[in-house]
Order: sequence, then C-alpha cells, then structure tokens
Amino acid sequence: TVTDVVTVEKLEHTQGSFPLCVKSLYDHVKKEHHLRHHGRLQLGLFFKGVGVPLEEATRFWRTHFTKKQGVDDNRFDKQYLYNIRHMYGQEGKRANYTPYSCMKIIMTSVSPGESHGCPFRHSDGVSLRVKLAEANIPATGVKEIMELVEKHHYQIACQRYFEWTHNKATVEGGVNHPNQYYGDSLKAIS
Ligand code: SF4
Repeated sequence: TVTDVVTVEKLEHTQGSFPLCVKSLYDHVKKEHHLRHHGRLQLGLFFKGVGVPLEEATRFWRTHFTKKQGVDDNRFDKQYLYNIRHMYGQEGKRANYTPYSCMKIIMTSVSPGESHGCPFRHSDGVSLRVKLAEANIPATGVKEIMELVEKHHYQIACQRYFEWTHNKATVEGGVNHPNQYYGDSLKAIS
C-alpha cells in the first residue's frame, strides 16, 4: 500500500533506528557524497528491504552523489543509474536481490578505503569506541561490547548496542539481519 512506501525523508527521520553498519554507510554518503561499489550494494539493498521504492532510492543516491564536484545528473545517470536499477531487478538478469544478512556482512572482506561491512567486525578498536561514544553508550556498556568484539561475538555486541540505545529493549532471538534490527527498533521506540 501507499503508506508502506519508505521515502528519503522517512529514512532521514528514522536514521536513529539504523544499526551501526547502516549508519556508517549512510553517514559516509552524506559526508563524502560518494560510496564505493560494495557499500552502495549493502546500503542500497538495505533500503530496498525496508520498502524504499526504486524511484526514492534513485532520488537518494542522486541527491547526495551530485553534491560531489564533477558529478552532474548526466554523469550520475551514466555511472550509477544502471547499478541502482540492477539492484531492483530492472536491468541485466532481472534477478531479485535481497538485502544482506549479518552473517554475509560479517564474512565479507573490506579493503582500505571501503566503508561496507559490520563495524563490530571491520572497524578498528579506536573508531568503534568513537562510534559507541557517539551513541552515548556508558563506559560499562562500551567495556562489555569491546569484550564481546574481542571474542568475535559481533552479533551479540550489536544486540548489546541495541539494548543500550533502546532503554534496555532487546531484539527477540538476537540480531541476525540489519533489516530486522531496524524493524525492531521502530517497534521499540513507537
Ligand atoms: Fe549490522 Fe548485523 Fe553488524 Fe549489527 S551485527 S552492525 S546489524 S551487520
């Protein structure tokens, strides 16, 4: 139905419900007006999974990417539009691509200069601590989360992050998917 359509404005309005992996990509796009291929896929498929239609997704990428010097509408169309439409099965094999699960994101490899992946797995300790502090997680929470990360319990670390940022509400059954995290967050704060 029309009411289920997630607009660019709704994304912006609900960004507090993004898991850290989505927040990192979203903030990167807004700050740098650019995102490399794997990041565009990870964020773009998350958008698709929460109900952002192709037209709105295109508007999101176009608005931000054309803020970068040298990228006008024409260049945007040539360089990025195909990939965006491809994610929605509108080009090529017309495959139905689904948003990535935590497991897939955690197992992915991230090269220097790329921003995709799971911050609990792929961020260095210093930047992860900064992200936790930005989310106003108290020192006890930061300590607990960093210990989980050291033991490679990334999804449990993410669940603790959810609990600290949602007044101790939790994710039923644990965090397995960024789209599930977002949905549970919207429920918890409504
Ligand atoms: Fe994202 Fe999953 Fe990592 Fe949480 S555990 S930050 S939802 S990939």
